[in-house]
Amino acid sequence: MDFGFTISKTRVIDLSAANMEKAARVEEVRRCMDCGGCTATCTAGQFIDFNIHRTHLLFRRGQYEGLDKALEACMLCGKCTLVCPRGVNLRRMIINMRTLLP
Ligand code: SF4
Ligand code: SF4
Repeated sequence: MDFGFTISKTRVIDLSAANMEKAARVEEVRRCMDCGGCTATCTAGQFIDFNIHRTHLLFRRGQYEGLDKALEACMLCGKCTLVCPRGVNLRRMIINMRTLLP
């Protein structure tokens, strides 16, 4: 019977099964409190499909696939670093992520 909606499948992120080796080497990602301020301010994100918070959240979870490509959108302008309430140096974090990602 068609009720006009479907029930979403349960989404489980198994962090213990993820490869956290690269994430462990970028200290800045652990200071993030996920406020999203970096994404709201991002220069690149205003023009193209790029979400810096989502990108470093996936990196922190060990879900690296496609992140190197996504990070190509960043122009290292530093606006996100200026607004971060946790003092995360996002420019340095992005450079470090780019170095570690394939
Ligand atoms: S602005 Fe800072 S604390 Fe907020 S989501 Fe971005 S990195 Fe995390
Ligand atoms: S440094 Fe990169 S991620 Fe941060 S605001 Fe600029 S373009 Fe966006």
